Amino acid sequence: KEDTEKRQIVELIRKLPKLDKIFEVHKKIGEGTFSSVYLGSLRQHCHLSDKEKKWFAIKHLVPTAHPARIEHELRCLQDMGGKNNVIGVELCLRHMDTIVFIMPYIPHKKFSEYVGDMDAAELQRYMRALLSALQHVHSFGVIHRDVKPSNFLYDRENQRYLLIDFGLAQRICYEPEPEPNIGSRKRPRDEDGVANDAKRAALDLSVGTPRPQPVEGFRPPEVLLCVARQGCGVDVWAAGVVLASVLCRRYPLFRGADDAAALAELADFLGTRSLRDAAQHLGRRLVTSTERRGLCLRRLVARLRGEQLPERYARRAAPATRASGAAGAAAAAAAAACHSCRSCRLRAEHCVCRDDDQKAEEWAEGV
Ligand code: ADP
Ligand code: MG
Repeated sequence: KEDTEKRQIVELIRKLPKLDKIFEVHKKIGEGTFSSVYLGSLRQHCHLSDKEKKWFAIKHLVPTAHPARIEHELRCLQDMGGKNNVIGVELCLRHMDTIVFIMPYIPHKKFSEYVGDMDAAELQRYMRALLSALQHVHSFGVIHRDVKPSNFLYDRENQRYLLIDFGLAQRICYEPEPEPNIGSRKRPRDEDGVANDAKRAALDLSVGTPRPQPVEGFRPPEVLLCVARQGCGVDVWAAGVVLASVLCRRYPLFRGADDAAALAELADFLGTRSLRDAAQHLGRRLVTSTERRGLCLRRLVARLRGEQLPERYARRAAPATRASGAAGAAAAAAAAACHSCRSCRLRAEHCVCRDDDQKAEEWAEGV
């Protein structure tokens, strides 16, 4: 592996000699679908100790990426970056189809190394940092669309956070959903009637069919149901999944291999009715072969962490779960009649506190 990485560095330097003039490229530190990222330092600092050097992340974009897409990512970094926990760009170098972004480097650990041991105060700081970065991005009318822990770097020692990777970012679409057969599905054509790649790509960045997101457990219903009109909610949903992962101490929390499997997981989690309602709201019809009530997050979290539910919740659930006979039936009916479960605050039909512990356990085992 090391040899391959060294060869990649040599190849990059060969294609982009000016990179080598300014930077020492030390090693590969990351790889995504659209890039490889290397650790670099300034040649002029070569006499300094590692502590004194200024470190950079050198992102080499795959040459097959569309130029308009690369330009858009760079614009996002230039316009929004450098503040509110959003990464900025220091320099961009290009020769022919070889393009690198030079960005500040932030040391960080893998999410899986800290997802299991964050306390409430640390989680609060982490989520505040993530949400403030998203608020900043959204204030520019842009959706990040790839919010996940590997794109939100956390330097735990120094309490620093950085939202990175605008490779899938898109302008918020305020337009109403197009009628079927007209609108976004047609390719934009130039005056000669010839589909124009560059124009189409530029349009794709603003509205229209969003670029597919990688199959990871952070996609909200509007993405899974291929709704063209997507808003900031896409990022907020992903941040919610990050939060739920830390609460449950499980990563990945969702791992649906394709859109249908991911929808089935959400249906298990939220209940089929909530998901159907959401689909209807988005102008889609969702058909499920079975009904699921959804899980109570509070109980699930307690179970996955091996913790006891606080006494007050256990007590509130008691009449419906434990009482038997006429009194039990009356209590269950009363609980079902009220709008939300007093224990988990979910609507009665979504609540599993009363009689569906088994289902939660089975699901939790799956996770
Ligand atoms: P991609 O678009 O291919 O997903 P990213 O920009 O997300 O590329 O970078 C891939 C990985 O490289 C990140 O998950 C991270 O581990 C590492 N990385 C990227 N930028 C930085 C940075 N500024 N500091 C430290 N590591 C980084
Ligand atoms: Mg990434």
